[in-house]
Amino acid sequence: MRTLILAPRGRDGELTAQLLATHDVVTQLCGSGEALIAAISEGAGCAIVTEEAIDQLLQRALAKVLGDQPPWSDFPLIVLASVQAAHHLQLMASALGNVTVIERPISPQTLITAVRAALRGRSRQYEARTAIQQRDQFLAMLGHELRTPLGAIVLATELARSGVDRVQLGDRLELIARQSHLLARLVDDLLDVARVTTGKIRLRRDSVDVDSTIRACIAAHAEQARARDIQITYAAQFKGAIDADTARIEQVINNLLSNAIKYSPNGRSIRVSAGVSGDLCEIRVRDHGIGIAQEMQSRVFDLFAQVDGSLARSDGGMGIGLTLVDRLVRLHGGSVAVESAGLGHGSEFTVRVPIGAPTAHTVVSIDSARNAERLRVALVEDNEDLRVLTANLLEALGCAVEAAPDGPDGIDMIVQSKPDLAFVDIGLPTLDGFEVARQVRAQLGDSLLLVAVTGFGRDQDRERARAAGFDNFVTKPLGIDSVRDLLDRARKTRTRVTNHG
Ligand code: ADP
Repeated sequence: MRTLILAPRGRDGELTAQLLATHDVVTQLCGSGEALIAAISEGAGCAIVTEEAIDQLLQRALAKVLGDQPPWSDFPLIVLASVQAAHHLQLMASALGNVTVIERPISPQTLITAVRAALRGRSRQYEARTAIQQRDQFLAMLGHELRTPLGAIVLATELARSGVDRVQLGDRLELIARQSHLLARLVDDLLDVARVTTGKIRLRRDSVDVDSTIRACIAAHAEQARARDIQITYAAQFKGAIDADTARIEQVINNLLSNAIKYSPNGRSIRVSAGVSGDLCEIRVRDHGIGIAQEMQSRVFDLFAQVDGSLARSDGGMGIGLTLVDRLVRLHGGSVAVESAGLGHGSEFTVRVPIGAPTAHTVVSIDSARNAERLRVALVEDNEDLRVLTANLLEALGCAVEAAPDGPDGIDMIVQSKPDLAFVDIGLPTLDGFEVARQVRAQLGDSLLLVAVTGFGRDQDRERARAAGFDNFVTKPLGIDSVRDLLDRARKTRTRVTNHG
């Protein structure tokens, strides 16, 4: 960052430049007011101007160039003035903005301190500009990323409803499901990255079977890989368990796998392996894709970092996947590293997590006779479409379902019919889900499984839900698998309640 100097009289300018040079400040002497204005417009750290240089013309030109600054910029100007002129210059200074007037005779130390402060402030402004640019780029990317699957869903739905669609309804639904899951994953990743960067994700540690977790992740990518003629091989050299959060470890492996596929040309292979090094479990994902240039390797884990950030990329992304991987692995006390011999030479990502002390599993035996009975499930949800859809899903899974659209009706319904399980939306109007849970617990005790359903997955929401009496907490959209899990859990609760009650 250059410090501009405009001092038309005598050797003032040169002496100032010499003084600053001994303190490692880079300077540029400007020969005239126009030269100073041009240099400010090009971008500089700050400017030092002597009183004699400030005529009306320069004042007007400064007012214009400083008035036209972008919102992040507040260019620092240091004016050197005699005691007599200082008062008049102070008035001008307050009109121009970020101006410091230093009275003559000037002590070198005062000048250096003032220049240093100005440059420090200016570099903060440049940082803010970079952050704003990154945010804008990210928002453009986000709009693009969300619009693509949304567009596909809207179009597929309209075609299916039009009556002129030549494609089977089942195929259309398949596409809608695929794109909806993609959308849900994008939104989840976004929320997660926000939570993890503010330190709000807490791990739910359990004993995680590395082998089956990796196999499940590979299976989840099988279709995507097949479509691109990519073969995924897996070398299992570690079959033990680690003390970790299953969902988060899956998230890590899934992100690495989907990148490996995304950044590989058709027909290449991907190798996944799990091994042990000391007390660390090492999971590697090696691809033979486009590779990563040396200078980018340290940056790929940065938030929103992308090697090619242009929107024209067909198989987009938001540059948050690897940030999430890095933060989640670090939360586990581990690390992630990338190696690539450069562009065109493929990449290898290595995740290392402490094996830790495996947690004991508790086995709950289930009374199969009682489980054959239909589960009775209550649903409190104010969004009508979601209420009907969730009720349909629960019915399709063999439950007897009743539903209410708001808190008061929900409480009456649950207290009267005493279901095995109740799904309660948190964001209900008038009486929210927390209050519903409190009142239901007060009247029915522990006889049912209460599940909070919400669009927010923040840890403080989970804690509030638990305090209000909920047993479980799920985020929207509800997936078939998570509903199945909860139904299983409700059956177990019913078994326990009947056995002991
Ligand atoms: P994105 O959503 O862009 O994929 P990520 O955070 O997952 O975001 O990755 C950041 C960047 O790192 C990507 O844009 C890509 O340029 C690069 N990258 C990630 N994984 C690979 C890989 N396996 N091969 C080559 N480049 C990769």
